[in-house]
Amino acid sequence: MTSSASLSSECRPTDELTILVPCFNEQHVLIEFHTRLMATIDHLNVTTEVLYINDGSQDRTAEILDRFSQDPRVRSLHLSRNFGKEAAMRAGINAVQDRAVIIIDCDLQDPPELIPLMVQEWHKGYEIVNMQRRSRHCDSWAKRTAARLYYALMDQLIDDFDVPKQVSDFRLIGPNALAAIRAMDDNAGVLKLLVSWLGYPSTEVNYDRKARQAGTTKWTPLSLLDLCADSILAFSIRPLRMYSYVSAISFVAGTLWVAGAATLGELTHVHLLVLSILLLCLGTAVVGEYVGRVLTVVSPRPDSLRRRNQP
Ligand code: UDP
Ligand code: MG
Repeated sequence: MTSSASLSSECRPTDELTILVPCFNEQHVLIEFHTRLMATIDHLNVTTEVLYINDGSQDRTAEILDRFSQDPRVRSLHLSRNFGKEAAMRAGINAVQDRAVIIIDCDLQDPPELIPLMVQEWHKGYEIVNMQRRSRHCDSWAKRTAARLYYALMDQLIDDFDVPKQVSDFRLIGPNALAAIRAMDDNAGVLKLLVSWLGYPSTEVNYDRKARQAGTTKWTPLSLLDLCADSILAFSIRPLRMYSYVSAISFVAGTLWVAGAATLGELTHVHLLVLSILLLCLGTAVVGEYVGRVLTVVSPRPDSLRRRNQP
C-alpha cells in the first residue's frame, strides 16, 4: 500500500456510504452480485445504501433492479438510454451527497467482499482508496497491451499529477472528494483522472481482479481509444504545445533554407511553396495555442484546490 499525500486529521462530514453500481445489460450476473453485495453490507459498521445505475439496458436488468429496490437500502436510477459507464458513474455521483461512495462493477470482476477493507482504509483517514490490480491475467492480450500503452501515454502527457497505474473504477471516494467533484461539474473529465487530480490523501490496495462471472464485456478497442482521447483532451495541452514547437522550429529552418537559396540565386517556386506551407503550420499552431488557453480558462477545474473543507 502506498499513500500519495499525508493523512488528514479533519473530520468526515458523515459516516455514511453509498455503493454505486453502473449496469448495462447485466441480467445474467445481477442476482449473484446482489446476493454477495448485500451479505457483505450486512456486516459493515457504516450506514450503507446501494445505488444501481441502469445505463439504458435493453435486457431484464431494469426489472431485476426494481425488484432489488423493494429493500429500503437499495435504490435504482434508470437512464433514458445507454450513455456509457463514465456518464453512468457521473449520474450516480450527482445523486449522492455528503457521503462516501464506492464504485463497483456488477460483473463480479471486483469482489464485493473487499468493501470492508476499503472502508477500513477510509477510516484511517484516506479520502481516496484505489483498488489496484495485482495482475491482469484475466484480460485478453489486446486489452493488456492497450492498457500498457494507455498508461505510458498518460505518463508522457500528464505531469502535474500522478496517474495511478492498473486501477479501474473500483474505488472509494470520501465525502470531501465527492463534494469537490460534484462542485466542479466536469463532464469532460475522466473520473479516475479527476480523482487523482484532486490530490487528496489516497492509498492503493492490491487485489486480484477476477474473470467476468457471466454476461459479456462491453469493452472494445475503440472504447479504449475513446478513453485515451478523452483523457488527453481533458487533462493535457501538451500535444498542442508539441505541435507549436515543431511548427516554430520548422518555420525557422525553412526560412533559413529559403534565405540561403535566395542568396545563391537559386530560389524556385518549390522554396516559396514550402515556406508558405510552413507559415500555414505556424499559423495553425498559434490558433491552437489560443484554443488551449480558452480550454484552460473555461475548464470547470480551478487552478488549485484547497485542502478539504476549508472556507
Ligand atoms: N457499463 C455501463 N455502461 C456501459 C458499459 C458498461 O454501465 O455502457 C457497466 C457494466 O455493466 C459493468 C461495468 O460498467 O458493471 C464494466 O463494464 P464491462 O465489464 O463491460 O467492462 P470491462 O470490465 O470489460 O472493462
Ligand atoms: Mg468487467
